[in-house]
Amino acid sequence: MLTRRALLAALPALPLLAARKRSALIIDGQNNHAWPATTPLLQRYLEETGLFTVTVSTTPPKGGDIQSYRPKFSAHDVVVLNYNGEDWSKETEADFVKFVASGKGLVVVHAANNAFPTWPEFNEMIGLGGWGNRTEKSGPYLRLREGKWVPDTQPGRGGSHGDQHEYVVTLRDPNHPITKGLPPEWLHAKDELYDRLRGPAKNVHILASAFAPKAKRGSDENEPLIMVLPYGKGRVFHTCLGHGVEAMSSVDFIVTYQRGTEWATTGKVTQKLPADFPGKDKISLRQAK
Ligand code: ZN
Repeated sequence: MLTRRALLAALPALPLLAARKRSALIIDGQNNHAWPATTPLLQRYLEETGLFTVTVSTTPPKGGDIQSYRPKFSAHDVVVLNYNGEDWSKETEADFVKFVASGKGLVVVHAANNAFPTWPEFNEMIGLGGWGNRTEKSGPYLRLREGKWVPDTQPGRGGSHGDQHEYVVTLRDPNHPITKGLPPEWLHAKDELYDRLRGPAKNVHILASAFAPKAKRGSDENEPLIMVLPYGKGRVFHTCLGHGVEAMSSVDFIVTYQRGTEWATTGKVTQKLPADFPGKDKISLRQAK
């Protein structure tokens, strides 16, 4: 048994343990989106939590030697994908699968769910994806029917979006650590509203969705936009929000990304909800510094 003196002696070490920062690796380098402008935001948002040290890994450019790209995933706790580009080497793919399956975190941001359409393990990790010739062969849509998300195997394209606009995001699980305390609905800044995503869709847990209206050339369905899923012992946080700098300046993007990354890394969320989280009637932006 510990003596009182031994306990007191151990106390000063506790805050140090709690403060150990986790290591996040952001991958960019190829994307049909403005990754040189958005990676600094993704990096800063994680650093602002005080929970992460962040390393950025930039792949060779398109047409370069992508086969030589082999980052040391295992040196990190979570990988954030801001990448939508050429396929990696089989060795790098295997490293990545091992990394996530071993119990680490993966965060998929917006067009990263367009990447790697023919890599089965990756598609299992992200649950749903779009473009890259995805079709019914890629897996079902997830459709909200009578309060439940059900697979829909009807033929059709995987991935589209209508005109960018501000839209209401609806919380679908208020009890998950990432979403606890969030309002039931909020207004998201002007962004693409990804629709008709499809994929293996195994064990996908939808945290939030938005209705894609026909008037904006959408699918006329509630579309899953923020989701989590397990992969092996690992945890995946997948957000379809965040087309560019404006969308990524929306406080709801920032907060769900910060909390989602913490959850993917540790399975818990310790961050408090900020006062500037948007309500249903007005968007809330933070100025890019
Ligand atoms: Zn986009």
